[in-house]
Amino acid sequence: MGYAPIVTFPNIIKSKESTEILIIGAGLSGLYAANLLEEEGYKVRVLEADKRVGGRVLTQKGIPGYPESGGTAFGSGYARVIDTANRFGINLIDLKPVIPYFRERMLSLGGEIISKEEWPNHPSNVFPNDYRNLPPNAFFHTFLGGNNPLKAPQEWMNEDQFIHDISVHEWFIKKGFSDELVDLAYNLNITHGYTAKDVSVLMLMFVNAFAASQSRLGFQTSLVAEGGNIRIAEEMAKNLKDEILLNKEVTSIDLSNDSAKVSCSDGTSYSANRIICSLPFSVLKGISIYPKINGPQSEAIKSLKSQKINMLHLIPKTPFWEKDEMSPNMYTDELAGMIISQRQASSPEKVDSLTAWLRGPIAERLDLMDQKEAIESVIKSIERLRPSARDQLEVAAYHSWSLNPYSKGDWAYWGPGQIKEFGREISKPHLKLHFCGEHTAIANRGMEGALESGERAFFEILDVT
Ligand SMILES: Cc1cc2nc3c(=O)[nH]c(=O)nc-3n(C[C@H](O)[C@H](O)[C@H](O)COP(=O)(O)OP(=O)(O)OC[C@H]3O[C@@H](n4cnc5c(N)ncnc54)[C@H](O)[C@@H]3O)c2cc1C
Repeated sequence: MGYAPIVTFPNIIKSKESTEILIIGAGLSGLYAANLLEEEGYKVRVLEADKRVGGRVLTQKGIPGYPESGGTAFGSGYARVIDTANRFGINLIDLKPVIPYFRERMLSLGGEIISKEEWPNHPSNVFPNDYRNLPPNAFFHTFLGGNNPLKAPQEWMNEDQFIHDISVHEWFIKKGFSDELVDLAYNLNITHGYTAKDVSVLMLMFVNAFAASQSRLGFQTSLVAEGGNIRIAEEMAKNLKDEILLNKEVTSIDLSNDSAKVSCSDGTSYSANRIICSLPFSVLKGISIYPKINGPQSEAIKSLKSQKINMLHLIPKTPFWEKDEMSPNMYTDELAGMIISQRQASSPEKVDSLTAWLRGPIAERLDLMDQKEAIESVIKSIERLRPSARDQLEVAAYHSWSLNPYSKGDWAYWGPGQIKEFGREISKPHLKLHFCGEHTAIANRGMEGALESGERAFFEILDVT
């Protein structure tokens, strides 16, 4: 009796080639999702409204030292960002030698420059005794770090933490602090929110726990891509089979038919099996989606706010700070905002340029002026505080993230009560539409948060196709 021949079948490989995915936005999150999907065999097309890729990552390549106007630096725990850089052969520079210079900032309040020695006993210092040595920018996170109920960053989305979904202001007052202290410790050069009253302390607990988780990894340092962080976006874009379609501003999304369709302001339209939308909600709220999104997610799109921030890059004609023997870095309560010197890890003592970080109400005031007036006002403010800087500052670049129609601000910030209201709804797919973007990240912030969200959207597509 003979045996039937053994027939071997090839492993069945499900080809995804015919599954088209449209990605709206070529920032880090959209590009990361696009690369993961393409590797998995999907046909991917990316539409970008701007004339460049990178979104909120913007390296000023024309300025010495390549300062960043957007995503600036990252920690050693940014696993996806580091892995992506390694994969594309992008060298990462360790900024450790620059950190001591970065921390050194001249404090200026009410027009007076206050030295480090004067600060602990200065009348404007309203911090409790144990904290009087800290500069205003360090008090909040130091104090919160000792009182943070989150053991891991992602716990901010746990229901049992929603009791902390109150404003930073209310939290401070409950801890027994005065409005004066809130102004000094939080409202001055505000990083998250417009005032301590419109931002949830639970979000800041997430920010704080994320920073702590980075430090726990043992390397308290900052990294930057050689040639600028924009290279990470550019290399991800180059790696895709099809070129990114630039100048494609999506104006509407139609999910009512078998295939999903988007229309652009230039009259073109594109269809696909699924769409991933990476747009910040400040932009998405101006785009029509049919059928409409309802409930808490719709509320999130309408009401999640974006940080106001403008960046001014200045080149010093001479090292004017040598004349007044103070650090070029400043932390002020004026239009000058916060000034940080741009330095290289290889020669940290040398200053290539200065960047003014202009946030919250400062950015809002500047956005009401025309660009020339805004820049002049900031320079005048610096010159008033530092007479040695007079006529020494050359303008190299200026960028308002709020006035940019494709970002309408910077990182999303959650108002009191919003995490409870729609935190868990924000990234839920709507029919054939999926969401990514830093605002939808749960465990990571900034650039790593953007990649985390792109990865989540990728897994959602894998699950449903
Ligand atoms: C000043 C500044 C400093 C920062 N510093 C840090 C830092 O030190 N560390 C850190 O980790 N992160 C930092 N960040 C944050 C980080 O840069 C962002 O979190 C991240 O780049 C966001 O990526 P994203 O893909 O979510 O969004 P985006 O980069 O905003 O991507 C969205 C894309 O969609 C495009 N788009 C918008 N509208 C449309 C439309 N209608 N049609 C088609 N395309 C459209 C946009 O042009 C953009 O390319 C900083 C950001 C700024 C601005």
